[in-house]
Amino acid sequence: MLLGVLGPFAASFWFLICCEFPKFYAAARDGGQVNGGVGFHLKAIGKMVFAFLMSGALAFYVGAPRFNIASAESDSLWFIEMYLAVFSPIFLLLAWRLLKRAFAGRQTCKCCRESVGGANLDELGLCSHCRADALNEQESDEEQEAWIRKVQEEFGDRQWAKELRNGRRTALRWKRRILSSR
Ligand SMILES: [Zn+2]
Repeated sequence: MLLGVLGPFAASFWFLICCEFPKFYAAARDGGQVNGGVGFHLKAIGKMVFAFLMSGALAFYVGAPRFNIASAESDSLWFIEMYLAVFSPIFLLLAWRLLKRAFAGRQTCKCCRESVGGANLDELGLCSHCRADALNEQESDEEQEAWIRKVQEEFGDRQWAKELRNGRRTALRWKRRILSSR
């Protein structure tokens, strides 16, 4: 009984946190603030109402028909079903996020992670820029090697030299994959 009454409140609260948390996280990372205008609060209230109604309705749908016999039969199963129903808005939200992420994955270049849209990626998932870069990279490139040595020894920037070497290695790996996929 308590679960059916208090559950929806808890669910709508958690739903709101799940909804808004990425925004606050992004704002904190960028050193900014979430602009909390009237629209923001109205939307937040709307989300809470949605989660509350969905949670309450499903809890009623799942729980009510068997409420009288719930104590007689295996309690734990009934409780698990109730929990699933009560927190369904959150599961829905998480599922939606996963779908969105899977979809976005097909829009971004696998090499530079730049979002360029599926139409601008080749069959390996590279953007035209990374593909051209990879094809231009040579297995033995004296000029590049001399430059990397110069960065390391003359400039004394080992981190930069390491990044350059990694970049070369990555480009060569992609080049091999492009050539073998032809
Ligand atoms: Zn790219």
